[in-house]
Amino acid sequence: MLETARQQAYDGGDGVERSEASAVNKAEHRSLYKKREKIYPKKVSGTYRRLKWVILVLTLAVYYLAPWIRWDRGPSLPDQAILIDIPARRFYFFFIEIWPQEVYYLTGLLILAALALFLVTTLAGRVWCGYSCPQTVWTDLFVAVERFIEGDRSAQMRLDASPWKAAKLGKKALKHVAWLLIAAATGGAWVFYFADAPTILVDVFTLDAPPVAYITIAVLTGSTYLFGGHAREQVCTYMCPWPRIQAAMLDEDSLTVTYRDFRGEPRGPRRKNKPTEHLGDCIDCNQCVAVCPMGIDIRDGQQLECITCALCIDACDNVMDRVGLPQGLIAYDTLSNVDQRAHGGKTRVRLLRPRSLLYIGIILLVGVIMLISLISRSAVDINVLRDRNPLFVTLSDGSIRNGYTVKILNKDHSEKLFRLSLQDMADAGIQVVGSDPAALTVKSDRLASFRVFVTLPKSQMNDESLPFTFVVTDLSDDSETRHDSVFRGPGK
Ligand code: SF4
Ligand code: SF4
Repeated sequence: MLETARQQAYDGGDGVERSEASAVNKAEHRSLYKKREKIYPKKVSGTYRRLKWVILVLTLAVYYLAPWIRWDRGPSLPDQAILIDIPARRFYFFFIEIWPQEVYYLTGLLILAALALFLVTTLAGRVWCGYSCPQTVWTDLFVAVERFIEGDRSAQMRLDASPWKAAKLGKKALKHVAWLLIAAATGGAWVFYFADAPTILVDVFTLDAPPVAYITIAVLTGSTYLFGGHAREQVCTYMCPWPRIQAAMLDEDSLTVTYRDFRGEPRGPRRKNKPTEHLGDCIDCNQCVAVCPMGIDIRDGQQLECITCALCIDACDNVMDRVGLPQGLIAYDTLSNVDQRAHGGKTRVRLLRPRSLLYIGIILLVGVIMLISLISRSAVDINVLRDRNPLFVTLSDGSIRNGYTVKILNKDHSEKLFRLSLQDMADAGIQVVGSDPAALTVKSDRLASFRVFVTLPKSQMNDESLPFTFVVTDLSDDSETRHDSVFRGPGK
């Protein structure tokens, strides 16, 4: 009895010796990291598939063609409509020209894009993921190429299971070459945004492009080939944080792809001479699973992996048509409506909810602020740095002098003449080292720095600090740009 108990303690009571048990445990532990099972998404036709093709063509056309659009900005300026000119520290977007000092416009754009994504997610779930995310678009393209070369789902499965013969080798090689060409075109297109596209294209092929261009193309070619051709759904499931974040933006009124289980269950195939009255509309054909690029079964309910591409809707609608049942067993719907439908209640569409109204309000606010600042932006910028050491100097005649560095940025494409003057400092004198304050020259597209001294009689120093304003007047049109500053002295 005691021996049996000891033996049980040793082997865990299940007759498996500890070393064996530990091996089993290790095997179980390892099995937590399940090997990826390749997904062979089946071809499907339907409304959402067509919509996805249209979006794929549009988004790829924008990405590949945008750097080739020309925009005349005058002589000696780049004529590329969209250009990130790093050497000149400038971003061109058609008629808009952003300087490094105005990077807040890009920040504002990113904020707007993020808010728009939040709003769309609140209203229509993960449509961004399902239709226009670059990972989805390029994976769709890679899958289409694979299907064109290797055939549809079952042909691909047969090919993968077949021995490595010439035909298989040929198809696989052709597929990977096609993928690499797409990936290289993708990486190549990216560098076109950073230099004159026709010039850099020739430079790349004549090996005259800078090393950074080749490195960028190589990195993007590799990542596109890896993510679009091999990693595919794994990028969405494991690498992308968005599936985890977007859950916080969804509520029961958000539109998402849903399986109407109240109608479909109990599921089961229709067989001749077998009663079907007890069955729901789902014939358990698995077509919705076969077409899913994420390899999931929407009938299991809402899942983190689902990118709401709606291809399962197309697949199921086709099946419903064939078996003579109404479409919509899988459909875009809200969770609250699915519940209402299940219980015969009234369905509703609530687009304007506190959450969506909040996002719309913030988008409008940020958009209006950006628009106003863009419209009212000046072609001249001024920045003033006041000397801190020493704060002030007492001259031999007793007057007080402060030193400043005044930087004038001329964003215009022609050289300009400026007058520098002071406001709220009636008795002060102004002196610019090496220049006349009434005629400061700043070349086009340049930042000029001037050493400026402001002098005030001691009798005017009523306080230790006197606020005043530097005024830069553009002599071509008398427009003024101002910058507040202070004059420091010993006080009374
Ligand atoms: S495609 Fe429709 S009928 Fe077929 S298994 Fe999926 S839900 Fe059921
Ligand atoms: S379950 Fe349907 S909507 Fe979700 S990823 Fe799969 S096919 Fe797309």
